[in-house]
Amino acid sequence: MPKSILKNVFGYDSFRPLQEEIIARVLNNHDSVVLMPTGGGKSLCYQIPAIYLDGCAIVVSPLISLMQDQVMALNELGINALCWNSTLDYTRVQHVTNQLRLGKLKLLYVSPERLTMDSFLDCIKEAKISFFAIDEAHCISEWGHEFRPSYRYLDLIRAHFESLPIMALTATATTRVVEDIQRQLDLTDATVFQASFNRPNLFYEVRRKKNTVQQLFKFLQQFSNQSGIIYCQSRKSVNNLTEKLVKQGFSAKAYHAGLSQIEREQNQTDFIYDRVSIIVATIAFGMGINKSNVRFVVHYDLPKTIENYYQETGRAGRDGLNSHCLLFFSYADKHKYEVFLNQIQNVKEREFAFKKLSMMLDFAAKPRCRRTQLLEYFEEDSSNISCGTCDICKNPPQTMDITVVSQKVLSCIYRVNERYGVSMIIDILKGNKTDRIKYLKLDNLSTFAIETELNKSQLHDVIAHLTFEKIILIDGDEYPVLKLTEAAWRILRDQDTISMPVFEVVKTPKQKPK
Ligand code: ADP
Ligand code: MG
Repeated sequence: MPKSILKNVFGYDSFRPLQEEIIARVLNNHDSVVLMPTGGGKSLCYQIPAIYLDGCAIVVSPLISLMQDQVMALNELGINALCWNSTLDYTRVQHVTNQLRLGKLKLLYVSPERLTMDSFLDCIKEAKISFFAIDEAHCISEWGHEFRPSYRYLDLIRAHFESLPIMALTATATTRVVEDIQRQLDLTDATVFQASFNRPNLFYEVRRKKNTVQQLFKFLQQFSNQSGIIYCQSRKSVNNLTEKLVKQGFSAKAYHAGLSQIEREQNQTDFIYDRVSIIVATIAFGMGINKSNVRFVVHYDLPKTIENYYQETGRAGRDGLNSHCLLFFSYADKHKYEVFLNQIQNVKEREFAFKKLSMMLDFAAKPRCRRTQLLEYFEEDSSNISCGTCDICKNPPQTMDITVVSQKVLSCIYRVNERYGVSMIIDILKGNKTDRIKYLKLDNLSTFAIETELNKSQLHDVIAHLTFEKIILIDGDEYPVLKLTEAAWRILRDQDTISMPVFEVVKTPKQKPK
């Protein structure tokens, strides 16, 4: 019985939501697509039927380290599981094939590349196979955040093993990805199981980058000796930040692909066994990490997609206890990525990456409940979820009306014929007689020096907000210039008003000599 395997092999008393139904589905010889957030317990969904059924289950997994971790854990529980990957020498391969042929193996973990090899297919065709599990199945879809071309060849499973059930598992649940998975694997008769993406014990907070290191120190002081992960975008910033934290007396280690493998593994184990509290890492860290008592996840830089953000924050609070997810963002982050994304050659891919980034930015910048935004992104009904545990719900942001200053900004953009960028527009509004402005005679414009209340940095915020609300467009072939959209005209014509969250730090405007 699956239930007794849960108890006797894994030592758990009860199933998590959907696990039992998913297991029953494969035991009845049917296909399924399993959508469950990170940490939801996907592995047991195929491990238990694999142990229960006659023969060996084939588990496709994208990372060697992931396979090895799972195999080790299963072996420790007394389950005969092995992986077959490129690191195996001849004798190990012999061992695997023998175990398969003798019918003693319960789970065999392989990479998608391995599965497509004729020699491998021949080998498993001679053995008794119970079913196929495709882990991290979103890798099959270009719409997922980790597309792996080799996953595309998995359609051969259906072609070669028509009667065996297939279970595809992922933490990504957008309709597009799910459809892709079903189509590519030919899962016409699959039931789609979707567990909730809501993580009620996670508190979501977003802050603007400003004295970020100081803000971070203060934040971390609330978590003395507790475990947490800080994600940075680059190896360099991982190193810098780790150094600063250590200097400040925090227990922190770095993790990124630029460290030697020994050092990386050492730092990771130190973190897992609580010998160090904080791991500062690039996104290279975390896949397959199974640490339940992570109390906070900080994003020191903006993640590139909401999937990334969700997956990374999902590593907090797996034990069900309250945990905190803090994201720092700035529009500068966005511009940095855009430069980077512009280098993507394939037009479709590039547009797609931009779209994902802009959705991530929406999440960070919009004064809307974070949980609702996340669930909406994953197309989950959020209408009967009461949040209360995100920054927006806890402290609803005050907003201020910026219609008048927006009208000044917009008419200024119009007066210069949509030919200049942010700094020029601000200089004109503030009446700065730079050489360029004098040379171009822009000081004759009616909008010259009409903004007296807000300072430069506040005007930057206003323009960023107008861009964000798609009232202004940033465009241009050689350098970015500001342009008006249809929405801008509604504001200029007094048909619409606009407000934004109040400025965080309101400085007294500096008086500049004219
Ligand atoms: P996923 O692959 O969905 O991210 P995992 O399969 O790695 O999640 O499971 C996450 C954690 O939850 C693991 O530590 C696992 O042992 C635990 N877990 C899974 N199912 C149960 C259960 N029914 N009861 C208790 N713990 C469970
Ligand atoms: Mg998993």
